Amino acid sequence: MKKSEKSSNRRKFLRNSLKVGTLLAAGAAPALANEKGTGKKIRVLTTDGKIIEVDEKDADCKIDPCTPPIGEDARHGIPGRKFVMVIDLARCQNARACIRGCQKGHNLAPHQEWLKVYLMKDNPEGEPYWFPRQCFHCDNPPCVKVCPVGATYKRQDNVVLVENNRCIGCKFCVAACPYSVRIFNWEKPPESDVPDNEYSPETSVPAQIGTVSKCDFCPDRSREGKLPYCVSSCPMGAMYFGDKNEDAVSNGTETRRFRQLIHERMGYRYLEELGTEPNVYYLPPVERMFDYRSGLKDLPEEKQHVYDKIISNENHK
Ligand code: SF4
Repeated sequence: MKKSEKSSNRRKFLRNSLKVGTLLAAGAAPALANEKGTGKKIRVLTTDGKIIEVDEKDADCKIDPCTPPIGEDARHGIPGRKFVMVIDLARCQNARACIRGCQKGHNLAPHQEWLKVYLMKDNPEGEPYWFPRQCFHCDNPPCVKVCPVGATYKRQDNVVLVENNRCIGCKFCVAACPYSVRIFNWEKPPESDVPDNEYSPETSVPAQIGTVSKCDFCPDRSREGKLPYCVSSCPMGAMYFGDKNEDAVSNGTETRRFRQLIHERMGYRYLEELGTEPNVYYLPPVERMFDYRSGLKDLPEEKQHVYDKIISNENHK
C-alpha cells in the first residue's frame, strides 16, 4: 500500500470513529441497528474503546461533529477522546516546518511561535540535540487554576484551550505555566486568506489583540480526521499524534501503538517532577538520524553565531 493511501485510510478511520463515537454517545445506537443500510460494512471505534463493524451509511454525520463549536459548547471536548502527542527527538532536525505549518494554520505573525525548537544538551560531554516544545495540555494545568475569569480550561479530551472572548489579558496564566509556552497577542493578527469564520477556541482564529494564546492541539482538525498542522508539516515524521483511548498515534505515514512505542523507546515527559501531568511525551534522542549542525543552516546568520559560540564555549570548559 502506498504511503498516501495508508494515511488516507488512517484519516478515514479516525473520522469515522469520531462520527460513530458521537452518535453512540448521543444514544443513537438503536437507530443505527433499525435503519436499512447499504450493505457495505466499515470498522469504527466506539466511545468505550471497542472496534465494531457498522454500515457505511451510519458513519455519515447525522450530528455534525465536524464544525468547531463556539462559546460554552467548546468547553466539553470531543466525546471518548484523550488526545496525546509523542515527539521523537532522534528525528528532529530543526527543519522548522512544524512552526511554519502552525503559523499558517493559525494565522500567526512570523514572530509568534506557539511551538519553539530549542538546542539542548544533557551534560558537558553529550552531543546537542533539537527539542520542540509547545503546550503540553497538562492533566493538572497550573495555568487553568490561576485564571480569574475561567477563560482557559481543561476538556475531557485532554485539550487545554483559551477562550479569547472571555480572556481579560491579565497574563496570570502566562506566569503560571512552568514551560513558558503561552504568548500574549500584542498586535492584531496579520491580514490573511484564512476564511473569516466565527471565532472558536478550537481554531483560535481570528485571535484578538490583548489576549493570550498558545498551541491548541488543533481539535478542529481532529474533528475532520486530520492531524495537527505541526505533525502533518514535519518532513522527518518526528511528531506523532493520536488518542490514548485508542492506544494509537500517527505521524501521517506510520501508525504505532502508543503504549508500546513509549515502552520500547523509553518515552518520558518533560519535567515530570512538577506534577503537571503533561500529555506530550518525548522519545530520547538515541541513534539520531542527523547531526545537530544540519539544523543550523536555515537559521539567520546572527543566530548561527550565537549557537556556535555557546557550543564551542561548552566544549572548551
Ligand atoms: Fe498550561 Fe503550560 Fe501545561 Fe500548557 S504546558 S497546559 S499552558 S501549564
